[in-house]
Amino acid sequence: MKKVGFIYDDIFLSHEMPSGHPESAERLLAIVKALKQSEIWDKLSHIRPRKADRKDILAVHSGSYFEKVMKFTGYFDPDTFISIHSIEAALYASGAIIEAVEGCRTGKIERAFCAVRPPGHHAEANRAMGFCIFNNVAVGARYAQKSGFRRVFIIDFDVHHGNGTQHIFEEDDTVFYFSTHQYPHYPGTGHDTERGKGKGSGYTYNIPMHYGSGDKDYFHAYQDILPGLVENFGTDIVLVSAGYDLHAADPLAGLRVTNEGIKNIVRGILSSKSNIPCIFCLEGGYNLTALSESVRITLKELLGFE
Ligand SMILES: [Zn+2]
Repeated sequence: MKKVGFIYDDIFLSHEMPSGHPESAERLLAIVKALKQSEIWDKLSHIRPRKADRKDILAVHSGSYFEKVMKFTGYFDPDTFISIHSIEAALYASGAIIEAVEGCRTGKIERAFCAVRPPGHHAEANRAMGFCIFNNVAVGARYAQKSGFRRVFIIDFDVHHGNGTQHIFEEDDTVFYFSTHQYPHYPGTGHDTERGKGKGSGYTYNIPMHYGSGDKDYFHAYQDILPGLVENFGTDIVLVSAGYDLHAADPLAGLRVTNEGIKNIVRGILSSKSNIPCIFCLEGGYNLTALSESVRITLKELLGFE
């Protein structure tokens, strides 16, 4: 069995949303409850996140955005609410990936799942967007590079395209961004002609999925296409924007991916290069039952638990 870190802290519950907002603290409570009732909880290494510092965040975000958001409360955009404790939670959410990278670097763990909120992949270098404040996976990618994992492969299976992550790395040939997402859909980016720019040309790979796509389409993307890309890139570490709103039961999108489909996506990701560190970071997923069951399935695969 693999050594798998589960990075979580109750600090993530303090990021409060207006009542009825889908990105609620109940999401993490449901995940933790389901895992505690499963055979998996005792097999995980339970790790507390660290708090990302200014320097970690500025490796990705602009100084002017950082200063602005530190003082901000209220709606940053029509979807993205920042409450009094949100920035603290957001710094720990980015810090969770950093802690997971450190765990992998020192050999304490081989793989990790960061159960965090707020999510990150819509956050641009200079703005909060789509429930996201700091781009957790991007901050983690830059930290990983500083720690010696030079070539970072980011996989994003959230049903929404990770516009922030794509834009942050689109001119970079040391970070690969691979995304599957419903298209057309929020946020509007992620056409298959978007393949990176300048030096980063060829290091962005988008697979838009039409409304109603399901397990077969994802099997093709994750078992037939992805492994070769990870191999050819000379990947040192894999970071995953794990959004479970691609599930058929999710209220925010229109795909038909089942629990079996989720299992095959995770298997495809892990088959790419089974001996390199792989860190999953929670993004979306808004049906509490589907979300918690999907996370349990993911962790079972990460553990290599039959
Ligand atoms: Zn999403």
